[in-house]
Amino acid sequence: MPRKLFRFLDWTLTLGREPDAPPIQHLYRCLGEDEDGKPCGAEGPVHEAFATAQKWPFDHLKVQQEHRSYAHVAVTPWLMVPQEEPS
Ligand SMILES: [Zn+2]
Repeated sequence: MPRKLFRFLDWTLTLGREPDAPPIQHLYRCLGEDEDGKPCGAEGPVHEAFATAQKWPFDHLKVQQEHRSYAHVAVTPWLMVPQEEPS
């Protein structure tokens, strides 16, 4: 069985800001409940533009006028960066 030698390094978790980092993505999830008390859980589409993602709660409210609570879900790129690159 092949063996690998790992060095113990200090790592930092940091926001991915490099040019080729994946874009931040946004969506809204309905926190309203149906008449029987079950969570709705409906989600709008994922958008890179925050303002575009914010349109979905207005569309959902048109069909579910009692559903007025929402969660904003954002996916952001993060990186694990070693204090020094392993040799
Ligand atoms: Zn809903």
